[in-house]
Amino acid sequence: MRVLTQPLYDPLEVLTECISGISDHALVAKFQAFAPSHLVQAAEYVDKAHSANLYKFPSFQGGKADVVTFGVTKGEFYSLYAQYFVGKNKTARVYYDALMVSAPNQKCPYCGFGHVYTLDHYLPKAKFPQFSTLIVNLVPACRDCNEGGKRTSTAALAAEQPLHPYFDRAPFYKVQWLFARVVESTPASVEFYVSCPLSWSAEQQKRVRAHFKAFNLKKRYAVEAAEELSTLSPRLKTYHLHDSIDEIRKQLNETLAIERAKHQNSWMTAMYAALINNDWYCGGGFAL
Ligand SMILES: [Zn+2]
Repeated sequence: MRVLTQPLYDPLEVLTECISGISDHALVAKFQAFAPSHLVQAAEYVDKAHSANLYKFPSFQGGKADVVTFGVTKGEFYSLYAQYFVGKNKTARVYYDALMVSAPNQKCPYCGFGHVYTLDHYLPKAKFPQFSTLIVNLVPACRDCNEGGKRTSTAALAAEQPLHPYFDRAPFYKVQWLFARVVESTPASVEFYVSCPLSWSAEQQKRVRAHFKAFNLKKRYAVEAAEELSTLSPRLKTYHLHDSIDEIRKQLNETLAIERAKHQNSWMTAMYAALINNDWYCGGGFAL
C-alpha cells in the first residue's frame, strides 16, 4: 500500500480535451451540457474522498444503452474513456500517459509490488460511468489489482472502502497493520494477516481489512514470499555453517531495517519481522 500525489489537472480541461476528439455533433452537445455538472461532481468527489465518504455516491444500475445523466448513456461514457481518453492518437491521451508514469518505480499503489499496467477506476466505471474520465478517480494499478474484487463489488458502507492512494493518509501508512506469521513447514512458508492498533476506529480497522480482501493480498503476498524464502534459504545456510542464531537474526535484521524504512506495510517488512521473531526458523527452519 503506497500513497500517490493527488493529480491536480482541471477536470473541465480534461473533459473538454476528450470531447474535442468526437466528431458526432449531437454527442458533443450532450457532453457539453454535462460539463458544468461534471465540474461540480468533481469537487464533490474530492470532498468525499478526503472524508472517506465516496461510498455515498449512488451507483448506476442501468445497462450500456441507458442514460446516466444529461442524455449521455453508460455506453457513451465508456467510449469517452476508451476512445477519447485512452485512444493513442487523441489529444487527451497525454493525461493517460502522465498518470501511467506517476507511480514511483512503476509500482502499483494498491498492492505495493505489482507493476503498473493500466488505470484503475477507483469507483468502477460500470457503476459510476459519470466518473469515467475524472482524473482523481483514475489510479495507476497492476493488472491483478485492476481485475480484482473491487471491480465486481461496490462499497455500500464507509468501512467497506479500500484505501484510496490519492486521498487516504494517516493513520494507514505510518503504523504497521500488515503482519506475517511463520508456518513451520518444509520448506518454511509465511502467512499474512491484518492486525490494527486498538486506538484505530472500527471503520479504519475494517477499511484496511477490506483493502486486504479486495485485492486478494493474503494469497498474492504468500506467493511473493515463497519466492523470497527460496532465495533466502541458501544464503542463510552459508552463515549457518559458521555462525550462531544471532548472526542469522543480524542478517535478517539488516534487510528488515531497509524494508521498514521504505514501507511500513509491505509484505517484505511483514515477512522479515516474522522471520526474525521465529526461533524455529532462525534456529535452522530456514534450511529445511
Ligand atoms: Zn497491484
